[in-house]
Amino acid sequence: MLRDEAPLVPLAGCTDVYVGLNFGTLAAKRFLDLWSLDELRKIWITDGVLSIGALATYTEIIRSSLVRKRLPILAAAASEIGGVQIQNRGTLGGNIANGSPAGDALPVLAVAEAALVLASAGGIRRVPFHSFYTGYRKSVLRADELIASIEIPRIHGRQWFRKVGTRAAQAISKVVMAAVRSDPVRVSLGSVAPTVVRVPKTEAALAAGEPIEDARRTLEAEIQPIDDLRSTAEYRRRISGNLLERFWSETAP
Ligand SMILES: Cc1cc2nc3c(=O)[nH]c(=O)nc-3n(C[C@H](O)[C@H](O)[C@H](O)COP(=O)(O)OP(=O)(O)OC[C@H]3O[C@@H](n4cnc5c(N)ncnc54)[C@H](O)[C@@H]3O)c2cc1C
Repeated sequence: MLRDEAPLVPLAGCTDVYVGLNFGTLAAKRFLDLWSLDELRKIWITDGVLSIGALATYTEIIRSSLVRKRLPILAAAASEIGGVQIQNRGTLGGNIANGSPAGDALPVLAVAEAALVLASAGGIRRVPFHSFYTGYRKSVLRADELIASIEIPRIHGRQWFRKVGTRAAQAISKVVMAAVRSDPVRVSLGSVAPTVVRVPKTEAALAAGEPIEDARRTLEAEIQPIDDLRSTAEYRRRISGNLLERFWSETAP
């Protein structure tokens, strides 16, 4: 249908689509409801790779023993997304396709070095998460493709996640950070640039054993936060530095 009856907007949990319709920012008139495609909701492991179906909801992710064991920071992010109603409807694939730089699951996928399995009538292709976004809410996903699943290789090292918003529940992030104290260390942030970002200079500073205060200064120079209705660039920069220090002290060997 995506190939032959375009243009169609896929609907998963609709938690982003309905907001767009309510605010009049989504002009689309024709939709393709994916909700009953249970094949896209499974969570499984093959050859050591954790696969999460794109339609898996946050509630399913929180409840999954495989996710809690292999990628506890994804369960942590899911439990801080919206409230229970949003967690019951919102999907991981929807968070990725929506592409907000504040999407809470996205820094987790960045440090997990996930791959996205994109499916169309023409076949399947795998895109590394780091090359999926091409700009603010833009990606390489074609109109005739669906995100089918997300593949996560085994991660070694302590995982860490923290979201900073106005309050603990039902708040969009001012800054969100995920990190892995691995060799080499991995750090990713949301809400500090047009897309979710890894911060290679900061990662290199930490890997080189530089003092955390120096790595913090590197991070504050590396990100490009903006002033908007949720926060200011200065606050975001300072909080990002605080989070980096927290990550480093809380995961110390
Ligand atoms: C009250 C409220 C609170 C929220 N709180 C948070 C929060 O704390 N953190 C956060 O990150 N987000 C939050 N959100 C945003 C939203 O819930 C998430 O982004 C959610 O993951 C979207 O998933 P969905 O299944 O509802 O997507 P939908 O709304 O169904 O779709 C979103 C977009 O993705 C596309 N799409 C969906 N699935 C696929 C697929 N498999 N393949 C290709 N394209 C697809 C759709 O066409 C659409 O463009 C909140 C939203 C609301 C309304």
